[in-house]
Amino acid sequence: MYQDLPADGRRGDRQSGDRPSGLLAEVAESRLVTRHGTFHAVAFRERPDGPEHMALVHGDPRKDVLVRVHSECLTGDVFGARRCECGAQLSSALDAIVAEGAGVLVYLRGHEGRGIGLVAKTRTHVLQDEAGLDTVDSATALGLPVDVRDFGAAARVLRYLGIRSVRLLSNNPDKVSALTSYGIAITGRVPLLEPVDEHNVRYLTAKRDRLGHDLPHLDAARP
Ligand SMILES: [Zn+2]
Repeated sequence: MYQDLPADGRRGDRQSGDRPSGLLAEVAESRLVTRHGTFHAVAFRERPDGPEHMALVHGDPRKDVLVRVHSECLTGDVFGARRCECGAQLSSALDAIVAEGAGVLVYLRGHEGRGIGLVAKTRTHVLQDEAGLDTVDSATALGLPVDVRDFGAAARVLRYLGIRSVRLLSNNPDKVSALTSYGIAITGRVPLLEPVDEHNVRYLTAKRDRLGHDLPHLDAARP
């Protein structure tokens, strides 16, 4: 698919309105002022019946771009739930991108509960609270997969934006591998560590011990 893309990888492809063909089914773009800073918002979907996603572009990112690929978490991102660190990571990532002067946040919808959906995720919360299962076992106990997220949409919108290499804001080595498999050059991984507290410690511990996330600050928080 990527052979069809312009070789120079410049954002001018997008600005000219002559976007790379075949990457995204539908796109709309606007200016978006947020409390974190001002972004160029790119709403898109890959298929007419697929989920709508959004990329927030700050500055004029081109090479080794600071990028956060954020999986939707309604409870954490919107309601500020503290059982996970998603909301804090979203906010920190936007702040980091603005502080850097350029970067992209790709917000992927359809990724609730690592892809199982909001209702199923809520069912896993019951098992976590009442049976003491962790985020992995509570999913498998319900016959659900642990992680079915696909990061192809993120890779394709980065290509659409003309971004060829990124420094990824993430603690998850698997996310680096997933984006690499879609042809995105990852030149570095930038940790996105949020404070550990009584509400999120079990979730963070499971992320480290069961899912391989790199969370060195967890040891310091719980000696
Ligand atoms: Zn979350």
